[in-house]
Amino acid sequence: MDMTRNDSPKPNNFIHQIIEDDLSKGLNDGQVVTRFPPEPNGYLHIGHAKSICLNFGTALRFNGRCQLRFDDTNPEKESQEYIDSIIEDVRWLGFEWSGEVRYTSDYFEQLYAWAIHLINEGKAYVDSLSAHEMREFRGTLTEPGKNSPYRERSIEENLALFEKMRNGDFSEGECALRAKIDMAAPNMNMRDPVIYRVRHAHHHQSGDKWCIYPSYDFAHGQSDAIEGVTHSICTLEFEDHRPLYDWFIENLPVPVKPRQYEFARLNLNYTITSKRKLKLLVDEGHVNGWNDPRMPTISGMRRRGFTPASIRNFCDMIGVTRSNGTVDMGMLEAAIRDDLDANAPRAMCVIDPIKVTISNLAEGEQEWFELPAHPKDESMGLRKVPFTRNLLIEREDFAEEKPKKWKRLAPGDAVRLRGAYVITCNEVIKNEQGEVVELICSYDAATKGENPTGYKPNGVIHWVSADNSVACEVRLYDRLFTEANPDADKNRDFHEFLNPESLKVMVNARAEIGLKHAVAESRYQFERNGYFCVDPDSSEQHLIFNRTVTLRDSWAKIQAK
Ligand code: ATP
Ligand code: MG
Repeated sequence: MDMTRNDSPKPNNFIHQIIEDDLSKGLNDGQVVTRFPPEPNGYLHIGHAKSICLNFGTALRFNGRCQLRFDDTNPEKESQEYIDSIIEDVRWLGFEWSGEVRYTSDYFEQLYAWAIHLINEGKAYVDSLSAHEMREFRGTLTEPGKNSPYRERSIEENLALFEKMRNGDFSEGECALRAKIDMAAPNMNMRDPVIYRVRHAHHHQSGDKWCIYPSYDFAHGQSDAIEGVTHSICTLEFEDHRPLYDWFIENLPVPVKPRQYEFARLNLNYTITSKRKLKLLVDEGHVNGWNDPRMPTISGMRRRGFTPASIRNFCDMIGVTRSNGTVDMGMLEAAIRDDLDANAPRAMCVIDPIKVTISNLAEGEQEWFELPAHPKDESMGLRKVPFTRNLLIEREDFAEEKPKKWKRLAPGDAVRLRGAYVITCNEVIKNEQGEVVELICSYDAATKGENPTGYKPNGVIHWVSADNSVACEVRLYDRLFTEANPDADKNRDFHEFLNPESLKVMVNARAEIGLKHAVAESRYQFERNGYFCVDPDSSEQHLIFNRTVTLRDSWAKIQAK
């Protein structure tokens, strides 16, 4: 595994502390086994990355193992597509699991046997209340529940009914197997939780073998035990389930006794990290699939141009605690900027071009300039850009009436073209609508690597040759939501806050000629414009760049105003 590149020392966190204590007491024979247990009902998102980094990172730190287990007890919502994407995303993040990919469904037979064990011990019963009645009987946070009239069925009767459940003799909702714990328990999860339901559903792994499926609570801890997991790390909303997790482990003949620990889930502003809502965005066409570069999914971020190291570093930066909070999107953006600033070669690309004609250079003449591929890293070498009569500059780098302190081009003014000559704008050509369509400029041959004499250029702007460059499409992405917490207000739907300008497609862009053969997923800094990544749909006939992130955090400025 390529983890050495990600060299920030792994910060200690409270989970690591717990493990160090366990190890010092000689628990678990000195073994540390964790697992990442996604439910294959959607693509992984940045929140999962936090869990992946924690689980795999913890195993790495303690020379332990981390396993990948699909928590697949909900067949109707799951699919092979999700399984494949999750496997790919975990690997792309730079982690490799111990052994084969595992599935909770591999353990259905064992889980069934353990359910029978509970029945035999008088600790589980088949309930024939309807789902609605079950809810009524369950009580509330302030009132105890009531025992089901079926709670005292004999072991024999329960065994027979449970077998009938397995054989498909019941329809969905007709009955369920429940653990017999305590209907008056203050913790609602302990009020005889359902451990098996009837579901006549085809399963992506086990096919039509089963028509009863274990609940999450019944399956999870027992799967941990089967796999020899020592530390079962999950998010805080499962804290209230821990007594139940422990109850099953205590009451079943499991081979080992894993322990559950909870940490705060990652919430990131300007986006959402709920698979259900992300799926809605995909299904309703607000984005172009799960890997749309605006999505906080791993595959979306990858397509956007994030590197695995930047995501891992971000997860290190935010740390692992037990207090819920929201992390600023600016932190994630800073993580990718840091990486790309150091590692992305520079290039020039004019995204919204305006034509510049160099009147004192003949058609067909071409002079090559050499620019460093990286200002601080000589090992990246040089790149060559041609200076010709027909050039392009960014439309916004020209102002007919220049504002105060204008650092770009204006009529009668001079600017330096990055890495090349100083030019002066002598004439502005407009179309019938009065729009500027061309600038007639002259270049100063004495300014190659030298300051001009007698006048001062306004600033330095980027440019490309119109004669010898490569056409490309540039997709400018912005945040998916205009509200920091699109999910926060219970009375307003998150759809209301979708940013209508989250994608702008620029079809007339041109990049320096060296990018002609740029391959998918290669990343560049387009000078003055931001960091960009070649889209996987790109081809030599149709180059497409996705903007990963701007050079600076423009959102922070807007909010400060
Ligand atoms: P969602 O609410 O988006 O459906 P989930 O928790 O149901 O997420 P799982 O596939 O069950 O998704 O998650 C796999 C693992 O990732 C779990 O251990 C879960 O706790 C963890 N996880 C999910 N979302 C986050 C998050 N936002 N931050 C940290 N860990 C997360
Ligand atoms: Mg879950």
